[in-house]
Amino acid sequence: MKFFIINSGSSSIKYQVIEMTTESVLATGMVERIGDETGRLQNTFFPGTPSERVSTVEQAIPDHDSGMHLVISLLTDQEQGVIGDTSEISAIGHRVVHGGEDFRESTRVTPLVIEAIKRNIPLAPLHNPANLDGIRVAMELFPAVPQVAVFDTAFHQTMPPHAFMYAIPYALYEQDRVRRYGFHGTSHRFVAGECARHLGKPLSSCNLITIHLGNGCSMTAIANGVSIDTSLGMTPLEGLVMGTRSGDVDPALHLFLKQNKGMDLEAIDAMLNKESGLKGLCGMNDMRDIHRAVEAGDQRAALALAVQTYRNRKYIGAFMAVLGRVDGIVFTAGIGENDAIVRAESLQGLEFLGVRLDPEENNLRSKQARCISSEDSRVRVFVIPTNEELAIAREVAKVVGS
Ligand code: ADP
Repeated sequence: MKFFIINSGSSSIKYQVIEMTTESVLATGMVERIGDETGRLQNTFFPGTPSERVSTVEQAIPDHDSGMHLVISLLTDQEQGVIGDTSEISAIGHRVVHGGEDFRESTRVTPLVIEAIKRNIPLAPLHNPANLDGIRVAMELFPAVPQVAVFDTAFHQTMPPHAFMYAIPYALYEQDRVRRYGFHGTSHRFVAGECARHLGKPLSSCNLITIHLGNGCSMTAIANGVSIDTSLGMTPLEGLVMGTRSGDVDPALHLFLKQNKGMDLEAIDAMLNKESGLKGLCGMNDMRDIHRAVEAGDQRAALALAVQTYRNRKYIGAFMAVLGRVDGIVFTAGIGENDAIVRAESLQGLEFLGVRLDPEENNLRSKQARCISSEDSRVRVFVIPTNEELAIAREVAKVVGS
C-alpha cells in the first residue's frame, strides 16, 4: 500500500511516497522555484538506506501541473522509479494550512471540501490557494485515487472559546471568524501520540506541553489528549520568537511604525514575518550560526538566544498554569530535536514546578526519541523527532480505512 504525500506551496511542491505496511519512505523530494526561469527538482529514492539515490533535474518549471508531471515521470521511470504506474498509489494526502472552523479532522477531498478550503482563503491568502493547486493537479493526474486533506489547524479546533477568542469586538468573530486557530497541528498531534507511548498510557489521559521549534515555532497545551491552547493565533505570527517572525508584539506597534516611520501595513506585516525574530535581533536565523557567533563573543547573537529561550520559558509557565498537572514536556523540530542549549535555557529555573533536566541525557546527540529529564523530575521531558509526512500518511490511513 503506497501513499503519495503532497505539500504544495506557492512556488514549491514537497512530496513523499511512503510504503504504509512498513512506514518506509520510498521517495522524497521537492520541486522548487515554480514559475521562475530556473526551476529545480531534487529527488531521493530510499532516503537513509544503503540504496539511497539522489538526483537533481534543473529546468524551467512554469506551473504546478508541469512540476507534478516531472515528479511523476521520475517516480514511474522504468529503470529508476519506485512505482510501476500511477495506479500503484492507493491514496494521496495533502497538507492544507487553514481549515478555519470547518475542519476538526482530516477529511476525504470532495467538491464541498474544496469549497470550504476556498472559503478559508482570507485566513491564509498565500497558503490555501497553493494547497488547492496541489489538490487540483493531483485530482487530474490520479482521478481514481482517494485524496485526503490534512489540516494544520484541525488539531487545535478543540480549544475552548476562552482560549481562542481575542478580546476585541465580538462582531469580528461573528462576521469574519477573527479568532485564534493555531498551526503545526499535525506535528503537535504526532509527537503527543509518541510521547503517550513513552509514558505508557493512552493519549486520552495525558497532559502534555509540546514545543515545536523549527523555522516556525509553536507550543501547545494538551489536556487529556486534546489541544486546549496553543501559541500561534489567527495567523502563524503570534507567540514564540521564530527564525524570522516576531511572535508576540504590542499590537499598537503598527500605529507607532506608521506614524513614526511612515510604513504602511503591508510593509509592517512583511517586516514582522520576514525580518524579525532571531534574524531581526542578530541578523541570523539559523540557530547553529547563532551558537557559533555566541561562542565568538557576539552580544547580539547572545541576546537573540536569550529572548527566544525566555519567551519559551514564559509560555511553558503559562501552559503549566493552564494544565495544572503536566505529565510530559516534548521538544521537537530542527531546534527542539538538536539544540541542548535552547532546551536547557528554556527550562531553566522551572525546578520549583517539578521540571528537572538530566544534563547528560540532554547533551546526548541522537536521532532517537528519548527522555532527557532526571529520575526525580515530576514532569518528564522528552525529545521526540517530528515526522509531518508520516503523520499525514497515518491520518490518510485513518480516513481511507474508515
Ligand atoms: P521547518 O520549520 O522549516 O520545518 P526545521 O524543523 O527543519 O524547519 O528547523 C530548521 C531550523 O532548525 C534551522 O533553521 C536551525 O535553526 C535549526 N537546526 C537544525 N539543525 C540544528 C542543530 N544541529 N542545532 C541547532 N539548531 C538546528
